Formats: sequence, structure tokens, C-alpha cells
Amino acid sequence: MSKKSAFQFLDLPRQMPQRIPLELRTAGDWGELYGKFGLADAQYQAGRCLDCGNPYCSWKCPVHNAIPQWLQLVQENRIAEAAALCHSTNPLPEVCGRVCPQDRLCEGSCTLEEFGAVTIGAVEKYIVDAALESGWRPDLSQVQASGKRVAVVGAGPAGLACADRLARAGIHAVVFDRYEQIGGLLQFGIPSFKLDKRVIDTRREVLEGMGVEFRLGVEVGGDLALSELLEEFDAVFLGTGAYRYTDGGLPGQELNGVLPALPFLVQNSRIVSGNDPALSSIGGRPIAGWEDKIALPDLDGRRVVVLGGGDTGMDCVRSAIRLGAAKVTCAYRRDEANMPGSAREVANAREEGVRFLFNRQPLAIEGDADGNVRGVQVVETRLGDPDERGRQRAVPIEGSESLLEADVVIIAFGFSPSVPDWLTELGVEGTPNGRIVAAACDDGSGRLPYQTTNPKLFAGGDCVRGADLVVTAVAEGRDAAASIADMLLA
Ligand code: FAD
Ligand code: SF4
Repeated sequence: MSKKSAFQFLDLPRQMPQRIPLELRTAGDWGELYGKFGLADAQYQAGRCLDCGNPYCSWKCPVHNAIPQWLQLVQENRIAEAAALCHSTNPLPEVCGRVCPQDRLCEGSCTLEEFGAVTIGAVEKYIVDAALESGWRPDLSQVQASGKRVAVVGAGPAGLACADRLARAGIHAVVFDRYEQIGGLLQFGIPSFKLDKRVIDTRREVLEGMGVEFRLGVEVGGDLALSELLEEFDAVFLGTGAYRYTDGGLPGQELNGVLPALPFLVQNSRIVSGNDPALSSIGGRPIAGWEDKIALPDLDGRRVVVLGGGDTGMDCVRSAIRLGAAKVTCAYRRDEANMPGSAREVANAREEGVRFLFNRQPLAIEGDADGNVRGVQVVETRLGDPDERGRQRAVPIEGSESLLEADVVIIAFGFSPSVPDWLTELGVEGTPNGRIVAAACDDGSGRLPYQTTNPKLFAGGDCVRGADLVVTAVAEGRDAAASIADMLLA
């Protein structure tokens, strides 16, 4: 399909792949919400690209994908070449095509945004799914083995991206994870209606085909000392994520029916994938913050209130809908414009019947005489002066308190990293808020980008940035591998 005119975008509307019908979603369908493009749909959408000469989409994409170039290859039906180009910047393109908040990244910067941005994420997903299904695999036939070996701690997006780039540089990567499946939060946090877990299985097969080795069910710092890895390997990359749960310290959070978000999501992902649901562990390991809780309440016909307006909150409300909750409310302390969750996810949640209450700050969780939740005491807020990060503060309005009735309350205030003792003992510095200190480009430290204060140790992803996005973790894992290769192959 060739471009017909410079104004083709006016005739061809933006169109996302078809979605699972609403009645199936609300009846408990956990399948990926967005279906797949066929070649004709992908070419149709790719044909809308203006090739505007200023690819803001590429600049805004954290891995700087060559978007106009692969859109052109799709139009020419050169899918294998498009897949190779996607992988040249992004080690996990089919994942990012599915879960990136494109409205804030590539698509939000598309020159056509006003008319309907090119569906960049959906085309990226199409290219890589189609190529992998047809048997295409990254070509490493020209790569010379260097004899160097690197341990990667954490099989989340940062660790997987790092391992991919190490393999391409001829460095043998051995990935350790405490859980028995790869993916980190891709596997255990993000629900299957956003990311089908078979996508991660395929990616594992691709990485193993590239020579990456996985040693799963091994906790570094517990089953295996980091010092042993430093002795055995030429370098170590840490992509251990951010798992310190923010509970908000609300009075009443110990009541029956109050759940932290991550174990709730993990449990659902285990049910959906057919794994044993009735445990507070993954592969026998306790989920952080959930060690003492076993069974999740049945949500069928219950009133659920989710506290928090980020991606985790959106995943919780939409999961609650699929679990048959009668009424699902999301309470957020600022207004809709300031909510961190992706606008697309908010729209999907609304369509599925979630009620949003903005400018409501929780004060306490109220219980009945039996210790069961009966609601959340909230106060209305207005936006005040900016805080130290430039975000307007939520200022409580006196006298506006009310009770949001609930049978179940899910706390989704987010996560932060923490630097374990076994890292500090090896000379790795952390920040007061728990991030591993890793060098940035040209920061004057004299260290390579992503090198920690221990020269053999590199780090990236959520454990360095704090809880963020899949694509930023991928970018850091990828770039840390380049630093490691610079150090080992110089
Ligand atoms: P993780 O994905 O957390 O992976 C870290 C890995 O390290 C884990 O597998 C862990 O088991 C392992 N590990 C940790 N310590 C050890 C140890 N000592 N020994 C061995 N292994 C260890 N981002 C998006 O872009 N889009 C979304 O839609 C989105 N939705 C999200 C929904 C939820 C519920 C959550 C919680 C996050 C979401 N995110 C989303 C954020 C995204 O998932 C993370 O930013 C991303 O996964 C971070 O990647 P990472 O590799 O740094 O860490
Ligand atoms: Fe857009 Fe994410 Fe793909 Fe970049 S990686 S082009 S931001 S969907």
C-alpha cells in the first residue's frame, strides 16, 4: 500500500484494533482487551504517517524507536525488516506496543494528534507478533563470542533488556530471579487484559535462542550471595525493581477486607493462568507486604473502593469489575488532569463501569463491630500550591468529610525501591529514598552510565529510577548493557 496523498490522514481515521465486547469484559473475560491488526489494518494505519520530518514521536519514545521508518516498511509489507528495526532500539517491542501509555509518549507527540494520532503502539505490536509467529528471530549469526560472562539479577523488563543487549555484544548473560517465571511485574503485576502472558513465554524462547541463560527460583542475597556472583562473573547488572509497598498509614488498614494492591493483582494473575490461587506467595516466595495474609475475599456482588489513581489503581478497579464486584469506585485526591494513570486506561475503566471520585483524600478506614470494613472516611480537596516536585498539593476542605461505603478496600498508593543490606555491604550507595545510586551520562562522577559505586556492579530500571514504566526500565537495561560492554570489551 503506497501513500496516496499528503492529506490521506484526513480520509483515513485513526483506528485501534477491535476490543473485546463490553458485556464479555464485565462478565469476567480476562483476555487482552485490544485484538490484533491484520496486515491490511496495520498498513492502513501506517499509511497515515505524514513522515513529517520532525519525528517528535521518536524523541518522546524513551527508547527512541525509528517509528516513521518502520511504519514505511509495514506499508511495503517488509515485516521481517520492520521487526529487526524495532529490535534495534527496543529489546521488548511487542510488550511496549501493548503496555506503554502511548497517549503520554509517542502518540501524544504525533503531529497528527489533533486529528487522531497514528496508532504507533498497535502497529509495533503487529510487526513483532507477526514476525515472531512467522518464525523470524533476531539474527546473531555475525556475533563473535567474547568469552565474557555477566550475571543479571532480576528477570523484569530491565534485566531482560540488558540480557538481550549483552547477547548481541557476544557476552554470555545469566539471568537470576527469585521467582520461577520471567517477566517481573510483566508476569505478576500487569493483568492479562493488558498483556497476555503467552507473550512473555515467547520472549523467553527468543532470548534463550539468543543464548541467554535463566536460573530461576534463586534469590540473590538469600539463596546466593552477591559476592559469589561478583567472583564468578565479569560484571553484574541489578534490575531488582521497586517493591516497598506504600500503605499510607491509614487508621483501620488492618481491618478484614483491606488489601494491598500487588498481592491482589498477583493472586488474580495466578487464577487466570490456572496456577494455585490460594497462597500469598509466588513460587513459594512470599509477596512483599503480604506475608501474613492468605485468602482474598470474594468480590462477587461486593462494593469495592480503590484508593489511588495510578496504573496500579486502574488495574485494580478493572480487575474488580472482572471479579463481579457490584460497585467499583476509585477515589483520588487530586483532579482528573493530575491523575497519573494513563488516560486510555481511565477511559477503559469508565466504560467498564468504574466510578471515579476526584478530589477525595482518605482519612481513615472504618470497620464494624466484627472488624470488617464498612467504608472509607474521605475529605474533599482543592488544588493548592505546588509541592517540591512541582505538582499542586491536595488541600483538604474543612467540613467536607463523608463516608464512602465499601465491603472491600484496595490500597494502591504505589511502590518505592529499597537498597538491601547485602548491597550496601559491597560498597553500593543508595539514596535516602531507597534508590540505588547509578551514574548518569556525563554526571562528572567518572563512572560509566549505570555503573554503581562498586565498579563491577551496574543497575537500572525501577530500582534506580523508582517505580516508573516498562519502557524506561527497558531503556535503562539496554543502555547499562552498552556500558558493561564498553568496560569488558574495550
Ligand atoms: P520488575 O519488573 O519489578 O522486575 C524486577 C525483578 O527482579 C522481579 O522479577 C523480581 O522477582 C526480581 N528480584 C528482585 N530482587 C531479587 C533478588 N534479590 N534476587 C533475585 N531476583 C530478584 N508500566 C507500564 O509501562 N505500563 C503499564 O501498564 C504498567 N502497569 C503496571 C501495573 C502494576 C500493577 C504495576 C505494579 C506496575 C505497572 N507498570 C506499568 C510499571 C512497570 O511494570 C515497571 O516499571 C517495570 O516492570 C519495572 O521493571 P524492572 O525490571 O525495573 O522491575
Ligand atoms: Fe511508543 Fe512505547 Fe513503542 Fe516507544 S516503545 S514507540 S513509547 S509504544
